[in-house]
Amino acid sequence: MSRQEAPNSTYHGFEQGPIRPPNEARSLLIRVTRNCPWNRCMFCPVYKTAHFSTRPVEHVKKDIDLVRKHVETLRQLLDDSGRITIAGLQKAAMRVEYEEWHVFDRAADWVYVGDMKSVFLQDADSLVIKPTDMVAILTHLRKQLPFVRRVTSYARAKTIASRKVEDLKAIKEAGLDRIHIGLESGSDEVLARVNKGSTKEIQIKAGLKVKQAGMELSEYVMPGLGGQDLWEIHAIETADALSQINPDFIRLRTLAIPPQAPLFEEWQAGRFKKCTDLMIAKEMLLFIEKLDGITSYVKSDHILNLFMELQGKLPEHKQRMIDLLSNYLGMEPEDQRLYQVGRRLGILTRTRDLENPHKKAKVEKACRKLGITADNVDEVTDQLMTRFV
Ligand code: SF4
Repeated sequence: MSRQEAPNSTYHGFEQGPIRPPNEARSLLIRVTRNCPWNRCMFCPVYKTAHFSTRPVEHVKKDIDLVRKHVETLRQLLDDSGRITIAGLQKAAMRVEYEEWHVFDRAADWVYVGDMKSVFLQDADSLVIKPTDMVAILTHLRKQLPFVRRVTSYARAKTIASRKVEDLKAIKEAGLDRIHIGLESGSDEVLARVNKGSTKEIQIKAGLKVKQAGMELSEYVMPGLGGQDLWEIHAIETADALSQINPDFIRLRTLAIPPQAPLFEEWQAGRFKKCTDLMIAKEMLLFIEKLDGITSYVKSDHILNLFMELQGKLPEHKQRMIDLLSNYLGMEPEDQRLYQVGRRLGILTRTRDLENPHKKAKVEKACRKLGITADNVDEVTDQLMTRFV
């Protein structure tokens, strides 16, 4: 999808995009651009029918001003414990003009259930706009919402790699604290096959530039993306790329293939052979073993991941993560299957939940009810996973 300017210069009100990283659930979302300027990754279902466009800086600033207005009103209603009563919220809502309902709702969400400390800039590649525009937006944001402690954004590796470090430093100085990059894989073969529009070299260059600019770096890795034929090179090369970058965070988000993703057709036609959960556990073990000489936090905060407890600081917790995966791979096949199903149904959250007879019995009952057997478990869990994409 080619880069486009906004179709017109008329402000149509506060906007919000469809996605954010899982750990930004409590953040205020400010939309800087619409959709994704690349939009060709085969595993990605998100923006496939949407065109990319930038938003005029003045429109983004207006969004920020509107949020500030409603946040200020709502902050005055906070009681001593930092909460707003439902009655207070309803009273404030009644005074809101119809055309500002959406922004009031977002502001109320941020004040009422959010943290009022973090902001995430949307959509998929905010740093694609001119660095001076990003500086202007961040400066305005920090001025209008001075109590915000953290501002983060997604950016494509290719975009960052093409930016001067001085520009990134100016963006950091203006208030951007952290960049989330979808590395997905360090293997050129895997990146090319899924049309990521990036290479291992570009990923490393981008990651190092973010760090050089003094920003925190969060790199997303996609277990399973290599499929059955490339899982090993995917694990080894991804670990190698990250070992060269040493990001602050390595975040895991396991591959799921919903029908809207171009990879779905490849999978259905048998040209892409999806890994089972057991294969992914093996891949993760190799990946963690190969991470070397770095001090990143490994985070497993995505609902698609089989192991939410696969987390820890490197190198201190590396052995604990290896033990977790080795223990799972050493379980009886029946227990492996029960964990797989229990996790995907939300009955189990960690492998040791299997030691709880009540929870285990609940999963066994669900397997009987849904007709889940050793023969169809991977098919059923694939379907369950697409609910979360
Ligand atoms: S994964 Fe990111 S870069 Fe790739 S198409 Fe989706 S939003 Fe765009």
